[in-house]
Amino acid sequence: MKKETICVQAGYESTNGGPRVLPIYQSTTYSYESSEELAKLFDLSKDGHMYSRISNPTVEAVEKKVAALEGGVGAMMTSSGQAASLISVINITASGENFLCFSNLYGGTTNLFAVTLKKLGIEARFITYDMTDAQIEELIDDKTRLMFAETIANPSLEILDIEHYSSLAHKNGIPLIVDNTFATPVLCRPFEFGADIVVHSTSKYMDGHAEVVGGMIVDSGSFDWKDYPCLTSPDESYHGVIYTEQFGRSAYITKARTQLMRDLGSTPSPFSAFLLNNGLETLHLRMERHSRNALEVAKHLKKHEKVAWVNYPGLEDDRHHALAMKYLDNGYASGVVSFGTVNGKKGATVFMDSLKLAKICVHVADLRTCVLHPASTTHRQLTDEQLEKAGIKPEFIRFSTGIENIEDIIADIDQALEKV
Ligand SMILES: *Cc1c(COP(=O)(O)O)cnc(C)c1O
Repeated sequence: MKKETICVQAGYESTNGGPRVLPIYQSTTYSYESSEELAKLFDLSKDGHMYSRISNPTVEAVEKKVAALEGGVGAMMTSSGQAASLISVINITASGENFLCFSNLYGGTTNLFAVTLKKLGIEARFITYDMTDAQIEELIDDKTRLMFAETIANPSLEILDIEHYSSLAHKNGIPLIVDNTFATPVLCRPFEFGADIVVHSTSKYMDGHAEVVGGMIVDSGSFDWKDYPCLTSPDESYHGVIYTEQFGRSAYITKARTQLMRDLGSTPSPFSAFLLNNGLETLHLRMERHSRNALEVAKHLKKHEKVAWVNYPGLEDDRHHALAMKYLDNGYASGVVSFGTVNGKKGATVFMDSLKLAKICVHVADLRTCVLHPASTTHRQLTDEQLEKAGIKPEFIRFSTGIENIEDIIADIDQALEKV
């Protein structure tokens, strides 16, 4: 099936006389007729559900849909994007080990990696696109377990050269994990370019309606885990199962579920999965419209006298345009545009407060146009000088273009810019 058909059809198949739409299995547990059958589930020698902390039929249908969209061997839904990032890393790292990650990651991920994982004894080593391969390799030692990056970085909108960094990771025997939240598999499938694991905050475009927080981990099944004892030696917490032997290409995602989801319990509710599935059914239509609208917005801003600068990888003269053309289907660069007004922070504040259709929200990437001014919200404790250092200019506005009529969006921008 093509991606548009997968969005609509994959994951759930209705049976003769059965419900046409994915049912919500609101049940914590599953009944069996013999203890032996249940014992087989505990031994992982038979497929099936036993307890909804670990798996649930509604959640499973959505996991199958996302796995199909990304072209992976399996997926696991989590209660949030943060939980997906956390589990994707600690599934193959332990105290005393380290990993590489780019410094342009989503702020929440950066906190998780730099502060919380540090407390657990796992060290995040930050790298940038400016560094040479040799400089990056200097940070790799025999305790380095993975490299973590974002396809389209939130909010800098830099595009990852997936082929380049996946080869660099593989050359050093480690997998590349890619946060594909802003692109979604409709615009980019990182596995096709060598990435090994994909994570998502499904709270953004995948849900698309700003209704439900969720996350997803997808396994490509292509990384060779031979140097990862956590996958190749017996798991004592699971009757000595050896994940690579018993589950082959699905070793990573099986361990994430049977060990970490079991122990951490970052479980999505069946209702959340149902809502996410509704969102996924129209993802292909929305991503196209978001991208077309955002390009119009970026072009319009670019020629406006009240606008100082515009960042959007879909623009031909954007520094990341070539990478956008290579990695994003049709060069569609998703819905987020960042720009600065004239008049610094004051100009940005006047612009934000004058918008009518676009609302000020912390959220990003849903079907309603919304904006955020990092300098006065998420980064408000910083001085202008500190903001500059963090790469956030005082006038920086993150504009999340919705799927409304483009003329209405631009009219709203124009009336607000007039007041700047
Ligand atoms: C929002 C976001 C996250 C965190 O996801 P939550 O669902 O809010 O926990 C992770 N990565 C990116 C790129 C995001 O935009």
